Amino acid sequence: MHNLKSFEIWFLTGSQHLYGPETLKQVDADSVIIANHLDSHPEMPVKVVFKPVLKSTEEILNICKEANHTSNCIGIVIWMHTFSPSKMWIGGLKILQVPLLHLHTQFNRDIPFADIDMDFMNLNQSAHGDREMGFMLSRMRMPRKVVVGHWQAASVITQISAWSRVAAGRHLMKTMKVVRFGDNMRYVGVTDGDKVSAEIKFGFSVNTHGVGDLVKVINEIGDAQIKALIEEYESSYVLMPSLLQGGAMRSSLIEAARIELGIKTFLEDGGYSAYTDTFEDLHGMRQLPGIASQRLMAAGYGFGGEGDWKTSAMVHVMKSMATGLAGGNTFMEDYTYHFDPSRQMVLGSHMLEICPSIAASTPTCEIHPLGIGGKEDPVRLVFNGSAGPAINVSLIDMGDRFRLLVNEVDAVEVTESFPKLPTARALWQPKPTMEIGLQAWLLAGGAHHTVYSQNLTTAHMEDFAEMLDMELVIIDGSTNIRDLKQQLRTNDYIYK
Ligand code: MN
Repeated sequence: MHNLKSFEIWFLTGSQHLYGPETLKQVDADSVIIANHLDSHPEMPVKVVFKPVLKSTEEILNICKEANHTSNCIGIVIWMHTFSPSKMWIGGLKILQVPLLHLHTQFNRDIPFADIDMDFMNLNQSAHGDREMGFMLSRMRMPRKVVVGHWQAASVITQISAWSRVAAGRHLMKTMKVVRFGDNMRYVGVTDGDKVSAEIKFGFSVNTHGVGDLVKVINEIGDAQIKALIEEYESSYVLMPSLLQGGAMRSSLIEAARIELGIKTFLEDGGYSAYTDTFEDLHGMRQLPGIASQRLMAAGYGFGGEGDWKTSAMVHVMKSMATGLAGGNTFMEDYTYHFDPSRQMVLGSHMLEICPSIAASTPTCEIHPLGIGGKEDPVRLVFNGSAGPAINVSLIDMGDRFRLLVNEVDAVEVTESFPKLPTARALWQPKPTMEIGLQAWLLAGGAHHTVYSQNLTTAHMEDFAEMLDMELVIIDGSTNIRDLKQQLRTNDYIYK
């Protein structure tokens, strides 16, 4: 996982020379206090860096150039303590390449009715200074997030910190590398797509290695490393008896550990932060990677089954955004339905590869036949996902654009037992209802694969879509099919 504190957002305050040095000194001093408050707030995932007040076209252009070229600057926050004529901002904004948050706040929370005079009015003008800024940002069609409220208000902190997480994810996405072991599952549509368009749009590259390249690395893993990893398995999970020392399937556990270490080494050596595999191409591998993919996801790597590079990239990006938050993010698949009218639910699972970051309790480590792929029985972690609100996110290639689809769901506590289904799984109810939620998902062309997140919300995905200037379709408690159909029709024209 990345340390998000290595990333910076810059706190920029606009003003002008008109007010004279004394007022500008006060603007600086107030801005330092706000920037420091944000920076030291426990909810803030990144560093917030104060920059001296901006008073001219040249200063604004220079700070925007500097933000573009500073490799750990992931975005800027701007606010106008006083009035800052917005034509001074055109040059800087035109070249700005990092995400922008417009913070509409003021230093004082309350109007000091008994003492307020014209000096106070001259210093505290964000109510109209930020309107001047808002006009120019709209005039220039600049995508940005607008946050309104006093800088100490909880909702302001929450919105800025959420946006910062998304900016960090976008920043990592710009340079991330996805590796595919083997190609797409034969004939499958939604997992395929235009990798060139994706690299132009998002920055991440997707390249393929024959599985033999990976097998070579797996076969070079030494016994000492395997022994250490087996000990980690034993201390982290409840192993089924046949996998214990002396058990009948112990050699399969050793092979699973070798596969995990081999994939990890391959990813580290190549600088990859996400990968895909496919059960149709495992030449030279004895098992389909199960526990390996589960644990590598838990360590922050993206994973997609059956060659699904889009979902794999999004797993890594969303895990990075959620660094340090309670709850998990995982590759997921809508598997089968419970249409009992009293308790309608989706069973989400995969053959093997669900990340244990969503587990309600300590996973068991088990081995069972797979019935697909024609390989030896794979080792996997088995657990139930925990209850609570979650989202399912699908990135799909519409041919002329990428669409980001989000469905809010409520995961329910898994009370049923699955004696014959040894996979990790979660049960949830889609919003607004099972019928409308699934109808909307199908109409929007959402994939069977998703990123399932317990700790990111629709608000994060809205910021993400805004920053990347991409289509966003949300299925939530207020979705109705007639409006959704109209939105999809309208979007086809907007994104043509
Ligand atoms: Mn699948």
